[in-house]
This record gives sequence, C-alpha cells and structure tokens, in this order.
Amino acid sequence: MKIVILGAPASGKGTVAKKISRDFNIPHISIGAMFRENINKKTQLGCQVEQYITTGELVPDNITCDLLKIRLKQKDCENGFILDGFPRNVNQAKFLNEFSAPEVVLLLSITEQESIKRILGRLTCPKCKEIYNLSFYKNSTCKICGTTLEHRVDDNEQTIKKRFDVYQKETKPLIDFYNDKVVEFRGQDDPDSLYDEIKNFLNLNLMM
Ligand SMILES: [Zn+2]
Repeated sequence: MKIVILGAPASGKGTVAKKISRDFNIPHISIGAMFRENINKKTQLGCQVEQYITTGELVPDNITCDLLKIRLKQKDCENGFILDGFPRNVNQAKFLNEFSAPEVVLLLSITEQESIKRILGRLTCPKCKEIYNLSFYKNSTCKICGTTLEHRVDDNEQTIKKRFDVYQKETKPLIDFYNDKVVEFRGQDDPDSLYDEIKNFLNLNLMM
C-alpha cells in the first residue's frame, strides 16, 4: 500500500501517519525526519541539505528526490509506505509517479480558524519534543517524561496564517494533479474518530 498524506498545519497529519504505519505495517517516511537523519549521519546529500536549511532556503527538488529514491529502495518499503511532507509540488509528484506511484492520497482538511486555534493551543515538551494540544490534554507536564510543557515562540497568529496560505498554495495543484486518487477527510473531528474513519477506508479499499 503506497500512500501520500496531505494536510494543513495542525490537521493531525503526523499522528495519523504514525498510526497507519503501525496498523498497516508500512514505514512512515517523513521528509523532515529524513533530512534530519541525513544531516546527523553527515551523508553527502545530508550536508547539502544542511547548507540550504541553515541559510533558510528551500531544499531543491533534485536533492529531495534523490534522498527519497534512496529511502524508497530500502527493504522495509517493499510492501509500501506512507509519505508525509512529500510531494510539495507537481514537479515532485511527477517524480514520484514515475518512480513509485501512490495508490491513494489522503487529504486531511481543516479550516484556517481551526488550524490557528490548534497551533495556539499547542504545547511541546522541551525535553522529549512530544506535542500536546490544550483542547485534548489538560495537564501541564509531559506524560512521557514529566517535564513542564512550553509554548513555541514562533507560534503566533500571523506566522500561522502565513503557513496556512503557503500550504494552500502548494496543495491545490497537487489535488488537481492526483485528481481521483484524493480522498478527503475532515480533520475537525476528534483525533480518534478521524483515525477510525481513515482506517476503515483503507481496510475496505486497499487490503484486498
Ligand atoms: Zn517529555
């Protein structure tokens, strides 16, 4: 099962991707994590990625695609994968189609207001980096390591709006490109019922 997951900031994309990975036994390939791993291991491409990131530039498509190609050739991708953070544009989507086309594109949609509300209500653990949301989590300390949770400084309404706009501009052409492969789920629902809906859909449509 080859899946691409698209979703606005704070739509719950990462959480859903992790659960799909666990329940369907396919690797969760997060582009951000792939970049970090290559930077830490100081691979040749990782060093190039680091230069772009530290100067605040976008990593060029050819580098991202080369890294992804290496990752998708690994043995754990034999039965598929769930891609999170890729593709970001039609150029990347065309590359993926030629290399290993996804069977389904999950789209988690939430409104701009909901996205803002969730991000402003977001707390992170400074120690283990776990993310919590005030709407769903009522404690002030991390349930994993007990550290007091903090707000991220760059999470203000203006930067969130900007991130949401960028997301919409990037995603619209992808929705057109993938067309009938796209299945939309409303990210407004509570996280558990949202995931149940997605899981049922995948069981019905892809596990035959
Ligand atoms: Zn923690």
